Amino acid sequence: MAQLSITFCRQLARARREKGMTQSSLAQAVGCKQSAISMLESGQPEKLSQEAVAKIASLLGVALEAPSSPPSALRPPSPAAGPAPVYCPDAACPSNVPYAVGGELLFWPRPQPAAAGGKHCGYCGEVLERQCPHCGAAVTEGACCHTCGGAKVTNTLPPETDHEAWAARRRREIAEWKALVT
Ligand SMILES: [Zn+2]
Ligand SMILES: [Zn+2]
Repeated sequence: MAQLSITFCRQLARARREKGMTQSSLAQAVGCKQSAISMLESGQPEKLSQEAVAKIASLLGVALEAPSSPPSALRPPSPAAGPAPVYCPDAACPSNVPYAVGGELLFWPRPQPAAAGGKHCGYCGEVLERQCPHCGAAVTEGACCHTCGGAKVTNTLPPETDHEAWAARRRREIAEWKALVT
C-alpha cells in the first residue's frame, strides 16, 4: 500500500466516528483485522491493500483524493458517572494509560465518564468499544481481555519507539492533562 497522507487517515477516522462505527465493526465490514484499521487511522496503512483502503473510504463516504479539512477540536470530558464496561480503543487517547511490560506496550483504559449510554469517548471523541476486538467477549477491567488475553488497545506507535521512555513521558502528560481539566 502506497503512503497515505495523515490528513486522509484522520479523515477516515473522523468519518467512522461520525457514523458511530467502532474500528471492529468497520474491520468486519471490510474483512480485515481491527488492528489494521487502528494502524491505518494512525497513518500506517501498510497492513492493508489498496483495494481495502478504497473499500473503507467508500463505506465511510470519504473521497480517496483527500481534500484538506480543519482539525477536529478536542472535546472536553463529560461529567463523571460510574464505571461501565466500555473503553476507548485509541492508543493516543488520554484515557489509555500506557505501561511498558517486558518490552511490550500495554494500555490500561481508564473508566469512561460517558458511562450512561455514551457512545463516544469523553476524552477524544472516539467511538467506544464494548467488546474485545479479538474474541468479542464483553469488556472487563484491565489492559487485556480476560477471555482471550489479547490487548484491548492496539499499539500504533512506530516500531522503533522506545516503549519505556514513551510510556513514562505519556503518563506524565496524562497526569498534567488531568490536573488541567479537573
Ligand atoms: Zn478516547
Ligand atoms: Zn478477547
